[in-house]
Amino acid sequence: MIFNYIMGALAVVSSPDKQLKVQVSVVDEKAYYSVSYRDKVMLEDSPLGFQSNEGDFTTGVRWVGSSESVVDENYAQDKIKRSQVHYAANRLVCSWENALHKKFDIVFQVSNNDIAFRYELPAWGPRMACVVEKEATGFKFPAGTTNFLSPMMKPMTGFARTAPSYESLYGADVPMDTAGFKSGGFVFPGLFRVGGSGWVLLSETGVSSLYCASHLGDCRNDRTYTVDYPDPAQNNGFGGSGAAIALPGVTPWRTITVGETLKPIVETTIPWDVVEPLYEASKVYKYGRATWSWIVWQDQSMNYDDQVKYIDLASTMGYEYILMDALWDKNIGKQRMAELVKYARTKNVGVFLWYNSNGPENDAPQGPRNKMYTAIERKKEMKWLRSIGVDGLKVDFFGGDKQETMRLYEEIMSDANDYGLMVDVHGATLPRGWERMYPNYVGSEAVVASEMLIFSGGVREKEAYNATMHPFIRNTVGCMEFGGVLLNKYLVRSNEGRNKRLTTDAFQLATAILYQNPVQMFGITPNNLTDVPGFEIDFMKQVPTVWDETVFVDGYPGRYSVIARRHGDRWYVAGVSAMKDPLRLRLSLPMLAGKKMKFYGDDVKGETFVKELAVKASGATEVDIQPNGGFVLVQ
Ligand code: CA
Repeated sequence: MIFNYIMGALAVVSSPDKQLKVQVSVVDEKAYYSVSYRDKVMLEDSPLGFQSNEGDFTTGVRWVGSSESVVDENYAQDKIKRSQVHYAANRLVCSWENALHKKFDIVFQVSNNDIAFRYELPAWGPRMACVVEKEATGFKFPAGTTNFLSPMMKPMTGFARTAPSYESLYGADVPMDTAGFKSGGFVFPGLFRVGGSGWVLLSETGVSSLYCASHLGDCRNDRTYTVDYPDPAQNNGFGGSGAAIALPGVTPWRTITVGETLKPIVETTIPWDVVEPLYEASKVYKYGRATWSWIVWQDQSMNYDDQVKYIDLASTMGYEYILMDALWDKNIGKQRMAELVKYARTKNVGVFLWYNSNGPENDAPQGPRNKMYTAIERKKEMKWLRSIGVDGLKVDFFGGDKQETMRLYEEIMSDANDYGLMVDVHGATLPRGWERMYPNYVGSEAVVASEMLIFSGGVREKEAYNATMHPFIRNTVGCMEFGGVLLNKYLVRSNEGRNKRLTTDAFQLATAILYQNPVQMFGITPNNLTDVPGFEIDFMKQVPTVWDETVFVDGYPGRYSVIARRHGDRWYVAGVSAMKDPLRLRLSLPMLAGKKMKFYGDDVKGETFVKELAVKASGATEVDIQPNGGFVLVQ
């Protein structure tokens, strides 16, 4: 039996710049870690450990020892916020033994503003497999911390029992002790403001078919959020909610991004730093912009003639793709689809086609159904898709976070790669390192996306508020396929009468930059070619979807956000505001010092204009943002 005579730290690991520290300790035979940044406590002693069908690794644990090493890696990525990444971290391996004398390691990698940690399990004698049932892993915040969290949706509720579809709104600056709030936890990522000390972003990465995805539990009385596994009610109650792993084996990485300001939160690359490509790309995938009839013209547009209109629109815009959404199987059919794809080719437009992921997870009725759920049907379908020249798929209505759903994602992506197809997923969970793990993965919804601007007046009213959240939370750890830039005044085909858009045109243009996804399905409509100012269409013709660099400029989640992205040698600075009053910002843009820029903004009536703006030699410039408005500054 081991004695808890060792109070306090057993091991400490610091970031290369020494500012971020993780301290590991044991109290009453339980393992803990804490986090400080510039000597301020960001996480207090937080629990570690897990329970499995091979024993309890949360209590009765004994410290065996630790070792330290250095990680230093450069990698290139063509579909995240920057193209060249240098990852430098100090790695601490803490070895433990449980009451049954079964060993396990907890590995921490600490880079300047990020911590990634996971459990590594050896084989225990003849045992080469185990089921991890739950974790004690938690994050204990100092008193006074507020959160920015999106609740998990209750399984098997909502449209055709498709929840969780990861579409709850984020709260802003919510106290941790909100009484009686039992939501079933919160999605990753979660953002926390730790009093005056700074910011913490929690997320998860490296989830493949070999594990379930997790989320944050409700806040406990001791200010701790735990890592929770999927609700057993997901997938119609079928399938385990733990993880079945072969030994030796590992859990996914949990990540903690820490900063005094939001800069490290916006610029983090930790989701990709600690994962590897799981297979080779079967070809060079080309990303780009798409037109998409379904978003404004809805189900009625899923016919041959309307799709021709959107192919022509894509061609006029110089866009690479069209996305044809649900119901094409019934309303167009396979034979005429082959003709449509051929027609699109003559216009230099590639094609994404929609599929239902079902299968048995829920009642989503839209077709094509039962084409993606089994390997046999999937490969048959993908063979046909390749034969008619389709470029990518949008697969919708996934079941949840259970390991069997993670397997389905991975199998669809791996098979699609064999047939040279890209994959964009909707009704889907947060991507967890997938941009790097799966070379043909090109985006996830996992957000209250543009469709809810059509379906919900409440979401329309919160459009600006939500937009100020995403650069700091959801979109900073993964591609976000929002389906944005809606230039109709009314979000209906007739462009009049109902679903009035409450944000300005400049706001919409700004979201083309703010929202990052390597393939953007834009919401512009054929009539926009003549009913919005020509300079807006010209802007949308040249907007890129891939970036070499992303920089935090200014903002506060829920109020306003301004970020800059570089494509080649061209900078784009974009901002939006959810404030009630006009906002005047003095921005520091050293990369644009002395440069003449184009400024797209709104006047006090919310009318969008373009003008020239010269950034001062110091890099300082002033911009105004109207309520529900935005701006873009382009070189
Ligand atoms: Ca959706």
